[in-house]
Amino acid sequence: MIIYNTLTKTKEKFEPINPPNVSMYVCGPTVYDLFHIGNARSFIMADIIRKYLIYKGYNVKYIMNITDIDDKIIKKSNEEKVDSKLIAEKFADAFLQDTKLLNIAKADLFPRATEHIDEIIGMIDSLIKKGFAYNIEGNVFYDVNKFDGYGKLSGKKIDELIAGSRIEVNDQKKNPLDFTLWKKAKEGEPAWDSPWGKGRPGWHIECSAMSTKHLGETIDIHAGGNDLIFPHHENEIAQSEAATSHQFVKYWIHFGFLNIQNEKMSKSLGNFFTAREILKKYSAEAIRLLFSQTHYAGPLNFSEDLLESAKKGLEKINNLVEHVQEKIDKKTKGNHVDFDFDKYYFGFENSMDDDFNSPQAVAIIFDFVRSVNSVIAKNDNIDIKFYEDVKLFLEKTAQNVLGIVKLDSESKQIGDSKENELVELLISLRTDAKKNKNYELADLIRNKLAEIGFQLVDTKSGTSFKKK
Ligand code: AMP
Ligand code: ZN
Repeated sequence: MIIYNTLTKTKEKFEPINPPNVSMYVCGPTVYDLFHIGNARSFIMADIIRKYLIYKGYNVKYIMNITDIDDKIIKKSNEEKVDSKLIAEKFADAFLQDTKLLNIAKADLFPRATEHIDEIIGMIDSLIKKGFAYNIEGNVFYDVNKFDGYGKLSGKKIDELIAGSRIEVNDQKKNPLDFTLWKKAKEGEPAWDSPWGKGRPGWHIECSAMSTKHLGETIDIHAGGNDLIFPHHENEIAQSEAATSHQFVKYWIHFGFLNIQNEKMSKSLGNFFTAREILKKYSAEAIRLLFSQTHYAGPLNFSEDLLESAKKGLEKINNLVEHVQEKIDKKTKGNHVDFDFDKYYFGFENSMDDDFNSPQAVAIIFDFVRSVNSVIAKNDNIDIKFYEDVKLFLEKTAQNVLGIVKLDSESKQIGDSKENELVELLISLRTDAKKNKNYELADLIRNKLAEIGFQLVDTKSGTSFKKK
């Protein structure tokens, strides 16, 4: 499998650090409003990548942060005279509801910034101690000149970056590119105690701290929209690598923008539709088909006409699905037909193995539907086994990876259970037990988990698990 890595600007063979485990972190929403269909494109493409890795047999630990403290949340809270916590809670709930409606599987964990203040403070503290950050009257800034690799992700030198970006003016900073790690609270703003006084974390440090806490110092995949390459992801690298002295991320994946009339869909430009609005008129499957028909990295010009054609295209798959289900329900016995399912599985895998070429994978699925239809048209009395195999193919590819069809099936969807969270909880209890030299308890937890099919793997950056 190959993936285009923004860091190296080449397509690279995918070799996870600790196979079959894959750690994946995706930058999630800032919860001050409903998300738009442009944000949805990034969330859906990340979901497809995760699901394809699972299809390939990887054990993926998938984390998406929720930014629940931020200037925009505070602004909304002031405008509406509602506590910022309530604003964040309301829109985090809305985010979870709407992503579910879009067939996006729940992350294994949705860490929130306000629940990781200790870890954030710890990381800022170590950056100051190592000389990468400075405190000016309660505002702590990252000193970009101290980090040699600054600019390596966006491929720019520090002076080019200064010239090319709109940067917040602030007399306290040594360099205009220095960014806030800890922001001093103004009167009445939500604030936490810290060694530098009351304040709140900057946006970038939240992802570095939460990623390290939940996935270890080096992770396999980190993803987000193109707009996050600079400064967000560039800053995450600077923070994490300075703090841990290890490579932060092996593969950086970035999603192209959803545009409207060739302009990025965004809140600030006002050219957006919320996902919730679109879901009133179109199914999640139609939206996902439309997105799958463009490669994740390229731009996609959004229009309702395109959604209409996606909707029409889906009818072809759904008509077949209905017919197949009817035959399965009737348990018809009949003649065997030769059909080369492997050809379509290979086709699907070859496409997705090539940097998640979903447009080609979709074409294979439509090709499959056409061939199956022609087999059905030519044969009167086909055995149920054929229909079951057709259904299985669509289930594994169109449903479980792309999410463009919903079959009447019992296959367990990922992310629906609390299972991973419970295993993580037991792992953290075992880690504590080991720290306290209670090896008996640590072994007991390991053995009991093994008995029910979870094998623990201890590595330098912590313990992960494999399902047997
Ligand atoms: P935000 O809540 O603005 O931080 O965005 C959440 C995610 O959506 C990030 O990964 C962004 O990069 C992504 N995003 C924002 N606007 C678009 C867009 N027009 N097209 C695709 N992704 C976007
Ligand atoms: Zn982030």
